[in-house]
Amino acid sequence: MDLAAEKGASNWLTCRPLKQHGFSLHKGAFRDAVCLRYGWTPPHLPQSCACGAAFTVPHALSCPVGGYPSLRHNELRDLTATMLTSAAHDVSIEPRLQPLSGENFHHRTAIREDGARLDVAASGVWGGRFERAFFDIRVFNPHARSNSVHSIPAAYAKHEREKRRHYEERVREVEHATFVPLVFSATGGQGKAATALYKRLGLIISDKKNEPYSITMAWIRCRLGFALLRSAIMALRGHRSRSRVAVAQPSSTELVAAECNLHF
Ligand SMILES: [Zn+2]
Repeated sequence: MDLAAEKGASNWLTCRPLKQHGFSLHKGAFRDAVCLRYGWTPPHLPQSCACGAAFTVPHALSCPVGGYPSLRHNELRDLTATMLTSAAHDVSIEPRLQPLSGENFHHRTAIREDGARLDVAASGVWGGRFERAFFDIRVFNPHARSNSVHSIPAAYAKHEREKRRHYEERVREVEHATFVPLVFSATGGQGKAATALYKRLGLIISDKKNEPYSITMAWIRCRLGFALLRSAIMALRGHRSRSRVAVAQPSSTELVAAECNLHF
């Protein structure tokens, strides 16, 4: 109930289910979403996962077989980049950090590799046109044992702290930019730093479009909520196999266009 009561965790249930905005769910997905919300076990789940473990909701949200945690992460990354495009400039996905040349960092877990990348970067988010900000996303499973020992706010703080220790000093000292960890729970809530960013985006976008701030924020929360919810449902119902499904690759897009009767 605490997870369901978090800000952003209920927008999928209260918004009008308009298909053109991606806010509709088919009946099976809706029932799964209600089960996830109330901590019930969805019906007709497999007994065991392709990895051999028992197939439970907490396991499905974390198991890497099938690539669902990565899909969830990338969905949030791309959605954030799209929102940033409406509010800032020079937005890039997976920007590479500058190589180090002897700089020293305090934290033992600071990322020091050449070629390190963050998830998104943008300029002008906090005001200054040339002020660059880097964002890195983590979606954690609040039902996982490592997270369930903490209170919900403490779990967000823990993940934000870990991200900051990895990147903040390097981004500040080498890139002369700000670093923002965007932490979400798989059930729809978000950490303090993420809340501050999306509120800022809501303010800029509502100002640009001359629309009420509350409506813009509801739209942002809905988009984020549905991205998390659809990812969770896909993790529950999606195909999991260690061997790839063979899909015939078309030899050219022209061939596909001809076969599908596409016109340009
Ligand atoms: Zn598994």
